[in-house]
Amino acid sequence: MKWRTLAVGLLLSALSVTACGRQGSPGGSAAPAVNEPAAANVQVAGSPTFAAMQQRGRVVVGVKDDQPGLGYKDATTNQFTGFDIEVARLVASQLGYAADKIDYKTVPSAAREDAISRGDVDYYVGTYTINDNRKQRVSFAGPYFVAGQGLLVRKDDSAITSKDTLKGKKVCSVTGSTPIQRVQQQQLTEPENIVQFQTYSQCVDQLLNSQVDVVTTDDAILKGYAAQNPDKLKVVGDTFSTEPYGIGLNKDDSALRGKINDVLQASFDNGTWQKIYDATLGKSGSASSEPQLQRY
Ligand code: GLU
Repeated sequence: MKWRTLAVGLLLSALSVTACGRQGSPGGSAAPAVNEPAAANVQVAGSPTFAAMQQRGRVVVGVKDDQPGLGYKDATTNQFTGFDIEVARLVASQLGYAADKIDYKTVPSAAREDAISRGDVDYYVGTYTINDNRKQRVSFAGPYFVAGQGLLVRKDDSAITSKDTLKGKKVCSVTGSTPIQRVQQQQLTEPENIVQFQTYSQCVDQLLNSQVDVVTTDDAILKGYAAQNPDKLKVVGDTFSTEPYGIGLNKDDSALRGKINDVLQASFDNGTWQKIYDATLGKSGSASSEPQLQRY
């Protein structure tokens, strides 16, 4: 699996060198699945965020950096890879910014609304579920993917098979996420058995060390961790929620929201979305097709 990924990565980077004569910039994303050239003369009338990007000459994108297959930063190369990163790059390219004009800023789940509303990031692409609660502080383009809450356990565990088998088990998830809220609201385990961290990789470390019994969040995220460590980890049971992923934006910037929705719709229609998906998430076994946009 690792060799295959490496081989595909090398092939893609060879292609991207041929295509545009250079490799990914430091801290950029490695081996893009789709190398869209930056669109020329883009205008987004009435968008304060776009005006700020133009003044800066760069785009600041909020992402996750520890979710393999979605938003992941390689510790040795410092390069970002994954489905969310590719979506972020596609949007940037259609706003007129090539890959070397993107700055990635890692923002954990609990800090997203603050980072977006303060303008620390121009937009956010990182397994960010669209919901009414969050819409009070930010807005969303999309959805561009639909995940569902699942369970990750140690390979030798046969006791945890569904959300109804979590009582008495130590359940780990992330502060400020929809999955942890669901565990609390549906009382899937006792309050003292709920363990919270800022990131899912911290939960996965605790699972591997047997400090917790299960990690719960979106299946797409969990499948990425299981694929990294197939001898020790497995995803079990059916999903038990619907998590439509949106691109988080400033609440008042409806012009940018409309523009990004147009970019997403075009990528659904012209096959770009499918190419990005096949090169990233599709590999860890997440099945999906383009969702319906929620324009508002
Ligand atoms: N999609 C869920 C959420 O937005 C869980 C994943 C995450 O924490 O990013 O809360």
